[in-house]
Amino acid sequence: MQKVDVAIIGSGFGGLAMAVTLQKAGIGPVVILESADRVGGTWRDNTYPGAACDVTSALYSYSFHPHVWTRKYPQQAEILEYIEEVVDAFGLRPLIRFGAMVETLAYADDAGRWTIGLADGTTVDARVVVSSVGQLNQPAFPSVDGVESFAGPAFHSARWNHSVDLEAKRVGIIGTGASAIQFGPQVAKAARATTIFQRSAPYVLPKPDPETPTWKKRLYTMLPQAQLPARAKNFALNELFGSSILGNVKMRRRIKAQWRKYMESQVSDPALREVCTPDYALGCKRALIADDWYSMVVRDDVEMVTPAIVSIDATGVTTADGVHHELDVLIYATGFRSTDFLTPMTVTGRDGIDLNERWRDGATAYGGVAVSGFPNLFLLYGPNTNLGANSIIYMLETQATYITGLLSAARHAEMATLEVLASSEERWESMIESESASTAWVTGCNSWYTANGRNTNNWPMPTRKYRQALKDPTLLDYDVRPAPSPVPA
Ligand code: NAP
Repeated sequence: MQKVDVAIIGSGFGGLAMAVTLQKAGIGPVVILESADRVGGTWRDNTYPGAACDVTSALYSYSFHPHVWTRKYPQQAEILEYIEEVVDAFGLRPLIRFGAMVETLAYADDAGRWTIGLADGTTVDARVVVSSVGQLNQPAFPSVDGVESFAGPAFHSARWNHSVDLEAKRVGIIGTGASAIQFGPQVAKAARATTIFQRSAPYVLPKPDPETPTWKKRLYTMLPQAQLPARAKNFALNELFGSSILGNVKMRRRIKAQWRKYMESQVSDPALREVCTPDYALGCKRALIADDWYSMVVRDDVEMVTPAIVSIDATGVTTADGVHHELDVLIYATGFRSTDFLTPMTVTGRDGIDLNERWRDGATAYGGVAVSGFPNLFLLYGPNTNLGANSIIYMLETQATYITGLLSAARHAEMATLEVLASSEERWESMIESESASTAWVTGCNSWYTANGRNTNNWPMPTRKYRQALKDPTLLDYDVRPAPSPVPA
């Protein structure tokens, strides 16, 4: 059994930020448990054609490791390369155990330590566990009849099957979220015919995506700090856009007017305009950016199908209007089981409390990072830490810094175990609840941000306020204890 001080689960942006921050604070030994054979999290998993980030590259990097990006919006391959570069720059590779699929986390009250059970039957013993498994790691499939019965190639957007040649094929795409709008236009270019099953129309805004000019690349290479003003400007612009989602209704109306102008400039047919018009508030689902979505919608070889899907069979998809759509390939762009958080891991805390049971009515966590009943378990990208409009890396760095600060403070006080107080957690939760009330997320649409109508996934205030809230890790929010004496033999 491997014994460590801190076990981090996941080697995406979050897990790696955590490892770097702990390393700088001299906390360890650390192991990073990664179920796959490569780092990168979502940027390793999502390799669909056109995969890119809709947050500008100026912002989409760690503050502690600037990068000279090739274009305004970074593409998946370049982001993955950047992540690999960070692993090597900070010497993290020896800490990573690849192929380590965590199945169980069990806290032993008497020892004050976690036992981590892996799928290969081995275990890791850790004082502290930091879960960084993401919110968008488990593909979701629609619950319609016959979902398994399609005879041709069928795959989820986050598990793209690159061996399937789409040339001359009739391709069906289910879903029109952030993933579909990136790969849909690429599929339409390659396929003979593309059928898009749209349950809800997205708001799609333009995406000007120029390459980084050579002079700028040179400047940023010589003087990385020269990128800071662009970073600050992009952050501020995202905050402004985000305000429309948080409750600035005037701004929401303005952006909606921009969207309508853009959509109507691309789509002239009134019936198609109707198809492209969302029936929910801007921002309730993620507002999207793409230059090629509406120009794809109007293609003669693309059909937008809006009646609900009733069943899938060996040869295609049947919709509520009774039409059977014959297809050769079926692609699910149906998102992720975002509100399940740490599942399918089984997490058993103090006194045998089961985390999934605890979160039956929707996940909550103090600061998005700590849950009462689960000593020394911390979360990155936990409940209410997703954003509608800004960079998640900013949130992840905030969390990693907070957790490291907390562990350092506990070490200084010669305390080994920290469990967030239920009262701190309740205070946080009621703040989330009241701040969420004015956001677009709770205006009645169905999105991956909510569970039973409650905002479980998103941070409901300006992004910088999250950093402010977590800037001073205080042990007063925690029940802190010294290391329990060794268990007598
Ligand atoms: P998503 O936003 O959850 O979209 C899923 C789509 O599938 C929705 O259009 C949904 O319709 C549709 N759907 C689900 N079940 C269906 C059914 N039975 N019949 C018809 N349609 C069905 O998932 P995603 O597109 O993978 O994106 C998830 C998140 O990943 C994004 O919001 C974003 O945060 C992240 N992402 C980010 C980027 C980036 O550039 N940074 C790129 C891709 C993804 P309804 O809307 O009606 O439910």
